[in-house]
Amino acid sequence: MTMTDAAAPATKPPRWTHQWKELYEEVITSGLCTGCAGCVISCPHDVIGYKHEPGEYKPFHLEEELGPDNCIHGEKGCTSCTRACPRFRAWEPEADEHLFGRARHADEPSGIYKDVLLTRASDDFVYEIGQDGGLVSAILIWCLENGIIDGALTSLVEGGDEGGWKAVPGVATDRDEVLRGAGSRYTYSANTLAFPEARERGLENLALVGMSCQTSIGPVMWHRKVGKVGKPIKLNIGLLCSKSFDDSIFDELFETKYALAKDQIAKMNIKGVFQIWMKNGDYHEVNLKECHAWTREGCNHCPDFAAEHADISTGGIGDATDWTLTIVRTELGRQIIIKMLEEGVIEGKPGDADPGAIALMHRLATKSRERWPGWAAVDARLGLPERKP
Ligand SMILES: Cc1cc2nc3c(=O)[nH]c(=O)nc-3n(C[C@H](O)[C@H](O)[C@H](O)COP(=O)(O)OP(=O)(O)OC[C@H]3O[C@@H](n4cnc5c(N)ncnc54)[C@H](O)[C@@H]3O)c2cc1C
Ligand code: SF4
Ligand code: SF4
Repeated sequence: MTMTDAAAPATKPPRWTHQWKELYEEVITSGLCTGCAGCVISCPHDVIGYKHEPGEYKPFHLEEELGPDNCIHGEKGCTSCTRACPRFRAWEPEADEHLFGRARHADEPSGIYKDVLLTRASDDFVYEIGQDGGLVSAILIWCLENGIIDGALTSLVEGGDEGGWKAVPGVATDRDEVLRGAGSRYTYSANTLAFPEARERGLENLALVGMSCQTSIGPVMWHRKVGKVGKPIKLNIGLLCSKSFDDSIFDELFETKYALAKDQIAKMNIKGVFQIWMKNGDYHEVNLKECHAWTREGCNHCPDFAAEHADISTGGIGDATDWTLTIVRTELGRQIIIKMLEEGVIEGKPGDADPGAIALMHRLATKSRERWPGWAAVDARLGLPERKP
């Protein structure tokens, strides 16, 4: 018998020793950090802070012993923050592997998925109040009412009905709380930060709603075994996203240049232009190019448009206005959508009804991937043409 005939010894993955020091250097100060706050909620020693404020949205170390770039607990072996970070090292193939049993192929810029359809809530109120078809709110309400989840980490609005537009993380446990957060704010909301409140309220089975950057947190945590925080996240609902804006866009652009007062804005959407509806019925469009200067810093290198690691990803692109473009990725996502269709909670039609939307999603996904720097882990650029030297 030769060596090649013998069963090869199973190779153990190398021990994961990466801590805050590596996270700080490779993600936070390199520009890869999206501000998703996955590291913040995973820290068992509560030493990672986060300012959910304009111009901030970044984690920082709360202890001063070793300076901002090192952690005494990390030096002693704690690795939770790097295990939780969906931008650290090979995050993309690891999350793919965990969810789908394989990494995405070069011809899958929008990630791996099972079905694409167009959906909308059958309940008129949910449909009206939702951003596109109201699907996300309908899913949360249905899953809460059917015991699939007991809470959702979602985004609420500071100031609520008073005309506030500051997106803040919050917990929803019933229809009213879900509907309080319906619609899109195009500024950042690190919905993960609602996790401690959810746990304090005794909630054990959570949905996480979030932009693409946030939907990779769960799968990365599950793969890298951040059990305490990862396990309660049972359902992952993604919002397609090409960027979010700094909150200062309201005062510095909309109000100063166009006299659109924040407290008078009724609804916003992005469809090639920034669409703004005012409470008095007026409608305005602002050129997106003009808004670029207010792009949130954490979005500059983000490669994921299509929320590739969600159970169900949702967007509003395409001709079918007021329908939610629905990308079903996992078996859990498929079962939920099938049941909701069967029960008549949502209406649906095949994604082929709007082929332009799917083609546009792939184009926008490719465009986002071009933002991922060549010096970072290569996987997120898979499928892009080689860069000229
Ligand atoms: C910042 C941002 C950028 C987006 N960019 C695109 C895009 O480029 N192309 C595209 O097709 N779709 C984009 N979307 C998604 C789109 O706006 C809708 O959210 C999606 O189609 C679902 O619509 P719905 O009617 O089913 O959801 P709804 O039923 O209205 O539910 C929306 C859910 O999103 C949550 N939410 C709202 N604002 C935020 C926020 N700022 N952060 C985190 N959660 C939030 C709400 O709390 C609610 O749970 C973006 C969304 C956001 C928040
Ligand atoms: S990307 Fe998220 S998890 Fe990673 S360092 Fe930034 S905030 Fe923390
Ligand atoms: S572009 Fe969207 S998904 Fe990417 S970091 Fe910004 S907010 Fe997150």
